[in-house]
Amino acid sequence: MGDTLFGKIIRREIPAEIVYEDDDILGFRDVNPQAPVHVLFIPKQPIATLNDATPADAALLGRLLLACAAYAKQEGFAEQGYRTVVNCNEHGGQTVFHLHVHLLAGRTMQWPPG
Ligand code: 5GP
Repeated sequence: MGDTLFGKIIRREIPAEIVYEDDDILGFRDVNPQAPVHVLFIPKQPIATLNDATPADAALLGRLLLACAAYAKQEGFAEQGYRTVVNCNEHGGQTVFHLHVHLLAGRTMQWPPG
């Protein structure tokens, strides 16, 4: 796949407010937040969309969600609640083709999301 601006964030070629990092995952604040807390968790290994993930990525996908939950607990909003979202392709509203999990918190979410 081609490089995306998230690749540039991983390589520190463009700035981002990084809130979480381990060997395989980076978490940083969304530049256009849709909630008081809006963090994107991405694998450092570039996977374009959820469609491109394979069984070999199962542990990594699980760790992305666990990183969201750990961050929610660390920041103290886990019990109040939050939403995680993975947008896939056009109908899902995906605009950056480097798989990412949105973590949204700090307000009541609506359902259906529209
Ligand atoms: P998607 O629409 O692909 O699910 O989500 C992409 C997200 O990336 C959007 O919420 C958008 O605001 C965010 N985004 C786009 N460009 C940048 C950037 O340069 N820096 C950061 N931190 N977030 C970005």
